[in-house]
Parts: sequence; C-alpha cells; structure tokens
Amino acid sequence: MTQAPISQSSISPVTPVLTKRWLSPNSWTLRTYEQLEGYTALRKALAGTPDQLVELVKSAGLRGRGGAGFPSGVKWSFMPKEPTKPHYLVINADEGEPGTCKDIPLMMADPHSLIEGCIIASYAMRANNCMIYVRGEALHPIRRLNNAVREAYQAGYLGKDILGSGFDLDIVVHAGAGAYICGEETALLDSLEGKRGQPRLKPPFPAAAGLYACPTTVNNVETIATVPYIVNGGSDWFRKMGSEKSPGPKIYSISGHVERPGQYEAPLGTTLRQLLELAGGMKDGVPLKFWTPGGSSTPMFTAEHLDVPLDFEGAAEAGSMLGTTAVMVFNETVSVPWAVMKWTQFYEHESCGKCTPCREGTYWLAQVLERMVEGRGTQEDIDTLLDVCDNIFGRSFCALGDGAVSPIVSGIKYFREEFLALCQQNTGGMKNPGEPELV
Ligand code: NAD
Ligand code: SF4
Repeated sequence: MTQAPISQSSISPVTPVLTKRWLSPNSWTLRTYEQLEGYTALRKALAGTPDQLVELVKSAGLRGRGGAGFPSGVKWSFMPKEPTKPHYLVINADEGEPGTCKDIPLMMADPHSLIEGCIIASYAMRANNCMIYVRGEALHPIRRLNNAVREAYQAGYLGKDILGSGFDLDIVVHAGAGAYICGEETALLDSLEGKRGQPRLKPPFPAAAGLYACPTTVNNVETIATVPYIVNGGSDWFRKMGSEKSPGPKIYSISGHVERPGQYEAPLGTTLRQLLELAGGMKDGVPLKFWTPGGSSTPMFTAEHLDVPLDFEGAAEAGSMLGTTAVMVFNETVSVPWAVMKWTQFYEHESCGKCTPCREGTYWLAQVLERMVEGRGTQEDIDTLLDVCDNIFGRSFCALGDGAVSPIVSGIKYFREEFLALCQQNTGGMKNPGEPELV
C-alpha cells in the first residue's frame, strides 16, 4: 500500500494533519519529529492538569478510531481520579480487520506521534504504565516503535520526572501472536496477561477492572496519535473538520479496484465519490459493484451509496457502520457469493470458540457458502444462511459474531439474484477471475 496525503479536490479544504510528516525524510526519527513540532503538545499538556486534558478531549468530540466510535474523553473520564491501584493505558495496535491498514503505516511513518499521544493520555488518566499491543506479524512497526521508545527515553520524554514535571511513565511494546480476536479489547488484556486471548464479560469495563484487574483504558493507535494535534490546535480547530457528531480528520484505507490504493486522510463525513476522486477512480474504468465502508464486519454498500457521508452517523443511517474506514472497493467482475465466502472462511478461522452461536454458526455458514460456490447449493441454502445469521447476530459473546454475519446478510440483501443464480444454474462450480480452483 502506498500512502498519500490529501489533495484538495472537492473535499472541504484541510491541511493534512495525521499524515503531515509521513513523506518527510526519516519521518520516524526523533530528530525529524522534533523539527516538525514534535513533543510541543506534550510540554503544553504537562503545564496543565490531567482533568483539563480530559475536558479538552471531551470538548473536541474525539471518537474512537478503532471502529466503535466511543467518545474518547468520556472513556478517559471513567478512570478513577484518586488512584488506589496502578492505572494502565493500553494501545490497541492489533489491527486485524480485513482491509484495515491505517495503524501500521502510521506507526511506521510517524511512531513518535503515537508515543507523544501515549504520554499525554497517560498523564490525563494518571497512568504510569502504558503497553502498546502490536500484531505479532507486524515486525517492522514493532522495531520502529521500539526504536522510537528508546529515543524518547534518551531525550527525557519517558521514564522518571518527564521534562521536570514530576510525572513518570514507562512504555512497553508487546508483540501479540496473530489472533484476530486479540483485537477485542478484553481478549487483548487476557493475552497481555499471558493467557489465551478470549473476550471477557463486560461489564465490568476495563476502566473498572482491566489489566491485572486494575483501572485500564484501551485506545486505538489512530485515536491516541490524534491527541497531540488536539492539544496544540484546540477543540474549536479540531471541530472545524468533519461533522458535528463525528469531528476531526480520519485515515481512510482504500484498497481493491481503484487506480491508486493507499491511505488517504480526509475529514470524517467524506463520501466514497470524493475518496474515489483522490484514489484516481475505478481501476481501468470498470464500474463499481460493491464496497465496504469500514472492513468486512461492516455491511456492504453498493453504487447507490456513493454519496453517503462516511462518518459514524452517516454510515449507520444508510444501513451500515463506519467501522475502521477500511474502504474495500470491488468492481463488476467480482462475484458477491465468492467474496462473502472468503470473508466467512476468515471469521470461521478466527472465531475463538468461546460461545456456541459464533463457534458453530461460522463453521456452518462457511460450509453452506462453499457448497453454493462449488455449484452444489440449493435455493433453500439462502434461507439457511439467513437463519443461521439470525441465530448468531445479537446472541454472540462479542462483536466478532455480529461482524461475521454482516457480509452475508448485506450481500443477500443487495445481490440475492446472484446467490439464486448460482443455486439454480448448479453449474458444477464457479471461479472468481484470477483465483485458483477451489479444493
Ligand atoms: P464497543 O462499542 O463494545 O466498545 C467500544 C469501546 O467503548 C470499548 O473500549 C468499551 O470498553 C467502551 N465502552 C462501551 N460501552 C461502555 C460503557 N457503557 N462504559 C464504559 N466503557 C464503554 O465495541 P468493541 O466491541 O470494543 O469494538 C467493536 C468495533 O471494533 C467494531 O465496530 C469494529 O469496527 C471494530 N473492529 C476493529 C478492528 C481493527 O482491526 N481495528 C477489528 C475488528 C473489529
Ligand atoms: Fe469467541 Fe466468536 Fe463468541 Fe466472540 S463471538 S467470544 S470470537 S466465539
């Protein structure tokens, strides 16, 4: 994936914020970061009180960039004000949602923005320990982060008495072991504690009992990397971008059949029509068929949804979710049942097995879809799929179960005739262009 700063085009003008250093030489070093305003927000933050920071983030309206969009300042305010136990900030860098690839480039290009955000957020929440939990496969970001953490310690931004403020903070970069479920915040905490990563019952939420049963806040990489800009720019500046309930800039990961796939920073509320303009349009001019607004766990959209504002409210009103803003674009050559089958196989593989609807349901969904794609399906299979989805949705222990049914239910909603045709023709199997035969 290439990275690209925002161009002006038809989107309301915005100077790149989160990606502004990405194309600078050696952007990942402390030297470059400091030359480009790095760690100025930290000095400002440490001059104020923790509560002032929480109020600032609340008034800016920052919402979680990991997918759920929970208001970050509100989440921070759940942490106790008088610590009786250690407080932890945990960064969820276990980016695993299919199509999502915004946090890894951010950590590669600008790791100090995450570290500066971690220090400010830890100060705001009275945490003296911060863990950054990164996907184990992401070796290069892990090395970049470790190097940046080392630089920050040497410069006095981490460790004891940071910049003479009396505030202490240690950051540990932790490599996960490659399970999608460990991106679910409580499974991530179990994994950090050395256990098998499986979701915990909520409540209690992590602010009440998180890592080692201590008050903990889990935030996404992009969320925390946004904080230094809010401290420097202020909440009014931040609210000038995006929409009223979903303010600020966002990194949209555009993949699939576009001319220039990559990371595009744009204000929340940007539409696919505008994003396609940034990404050079549909590849070779082949028309759009379907797309996801925020990864495979968000119900798919079609060409009818080109003008849906991609913010938390806009995506929901149009029948999907903003999710991780992983925009996967598919043209007319792609079979919807085939794509849905591939996503379902992913969920079946990644289901942690803790609850029956998801563990058994994803297995059967994959079986039925494989049967259909191999040309052995019947019309009844479409009803069976929807029935199994109905028994998973809202009945699973965590969001993975609900996410697994999204591609199937939305795929059948918009492209039922394609599923039907596959069953009626009973062709003895179909193959997506460019894909190997199914075995
Ligand atoms: P959630 O809505 O349950 O929680 C979101 C956050 O808000 C959590 O930190 C949670 O602790 C907090 N929260 C929610 N209600 C609370 C309350 N009443 N009190 C205190 N805190 C509260 O969502 P989730 O299960 O954490 O995440 C689901 C989302 O994750 C999906 O929307 C999906 O888009 C996204 N996702 C992202 C990735 C990725 O790679 N980034 C992967 C899979 C899924
Ligand atoms: Fe595990 Fe799936 Fe149940 Fe989540 S929904 S707890 S991933 S089995």
